[in-house]
Amino acid sequence: MYDYDLMVIGSGPGGQKAAIAAAKLGKRVAIADREHMMGGVCVNTGTIPSKTLREAVLYLSGFTQREMYGASYRVKAEITIDDLLARTRHVIGREIEIVRSQLLRNHVDILTGTARFTDPHTVVVEGHARGDHNTVTAAKFVIATGTSPARPDSVEFDGERVVDSDQILEVGRVPDTMVVVGAGVIGIEYASMFAALGTRVTVVEKRDAMLTFCDPEVVESLKFHLRDQAVTFRFGEEVSSVEVTGRGTVTSLVSGKKIPADMVMYSAGRQGMTESLDLGKAGLEADERGRITVDKQYRTGVEHIAAVGDVIGFPALASTSMDQGRLATCHLFDEPVRELAELQPIGIYTIPEISFCGRTEAELTAAAIPYETGLARYRELARGAIIGDSYGMLKLLVSTDDRTLLGVHVFGTSATDLVHIGQAIMGCGGTVDYLVDTVLNYPTLSEAYKVAALDATNKIRALESVQNGRPSSPPAPSGGDVADPDQDQV
Ligand SMILES: Cc1cc2nc3c(=O)[nH]c(=O)nc-3n(C[C@H](O)[C@H](O)[C@H](O)COP(=O)(O)OP(=O)(O)OC[C@H]3O[C@@H](n4cnc5c(N)ncnc54)[C@H](O)[C@@H]3O)c2cc1C
Repeated sequence: MYDYDLMVIGSGPGGQKAAIAAAKLGKRVAIADREHMMGGVCVNTGTIPSKTLREAVLYLSGFTQREMYGASYRVKAEITIDDLLARTRHVIGREIEIVRSQLLRNHVDILTGTARFTDPHTVVVEGHARGDHNTVTAAKFVIATGTSPARPDSVEFDGERVVDSDQILEVGRVPDTMVVVGAGVIGIEYASMFAALGTRVTVVEKRDAMLTFCDPEVVESLKFHLRDQAVTFRFGEEVSSVEVTGRGTVTSLVSGKKIPADMVMYSAGRQGMTESLDLGKAGLEADERGRITVDKQYRTGVEHIAAVGDVIGFPALASTSMDQGRLATCHLFDEPVRELAELQPIGIYTIPEISFCGRTEAELTAAAIPYETGLARYRELARGAIIGDSYGMLKLLVSTDDRTLLGVHVFGTSATDLVHIGQAIMGCGGTVDYLVDTVLNYPTLSEAYKVAALDATNKIRALESVQNGRPSSPPAPSGGDVADPDQDQV
């Protein structure tokens, strides 16, 4: 008889949902996490703090109001790091309480400390204090230990001048100048936040481009915006060394360039947190990036041990980790469950934000799938004018064969929320005609869907009329080619 039916290691989104799903099935469950890490990376150093920081930046910098009130508009003239972190600490504290209370009311035992396997059914959870350790046996395990920032050996991180994406939440002041190494999602999110605060940011990226999985038009818009806020991009460049002096840092590039800055933030990938687990004792191993391989049911090579979340790699999002945790538990206990829909949204919380779902134009072109685009610009929407967002855009990719939506790409205010409308339509196999025939609230940003749908259907009609040899018919009574700003919407 084991102490628990399920032992979960790591209390991030994947671990929490795995534990709660097991508790709902009436299982005896325990969850372990390191001290001060309840809620995981997600709550303590990743998603929640970075998104709260972003919200604080947007509010205090008055960034989104500047179109209305002028470029010098600020809610607070001198924004300190304490102003920013006060909000972050408040939200983190609240989220930790929510996670803890959810676990406790579902009768999940919380063990504090670092867990390591001693055999395939036993872990020792070691706390900070001497002698503070618990030996726990369980029938099944879910490993949800996440990742930590990867640090190149050649760089000395001091937590002040040279930081990683965890340490950025503890810096003493808002830097005047900053180098961000790595233009992945995390790097570019932080680059845009600091740029909005007035920091002059240089982004160094060894690849020739950034966010290559996104729509290139959207990425171009983001780059344009960031450049406008004094962000310099150094693509195709590699850092050779970072030197810390009394007055700041000097980042040297392999090309010979030197970039002086108050601070350097490294955001060059993440490493699976498997080192402390002693996986070998459980009959498991991690790859060179600390990741654990699983099958479609999130089972590792050992039948009764599953792994979920960032520790299993792509897509490494809080959103997917939660569902993986729930599903892994159901599979471990042979509970019938439906798999996740393949269609999943991507949200990038840059300023302005990006979100998309479905295919990109590049993917459709490569797969020789014919499509037409429908575009709506926020500046043509009443809500866009009201909120002062003139740069936002929404693009639909519509099949010219059967008019189904193939992709939706959004850039600008509320992109990460708006994308779900397109996702729902695509998930149900809906066509662009649903949007044309549906009344949406006015004035809203959702109206962008209607405008883009009309744009796409007008283009498809124009093509059909040429193909059929008929003169191009006028727009439908409810539609107009709004991609042309001089043309009225009817
Ligand atoms: C800066 C940043 C911003 C992000 N923004 C977003 C976003 O906007 N949207 C989004 O969906 N995702 C975002 N992510 C990704 C998201 O945070 C992760 O996908 C998510 O947290 C992964 O969840 P997880 O279940 O794998 O566990 P994690 O949240 O990674 O937590 C793992 C936990 O395991 C614990 N642990 C590790 N080893 C042990 C051990 N041996 N014993 C006990 N406990 C252990 C750790 O202490 C940690 O608490 C962001 C990540 C970062 C870093």
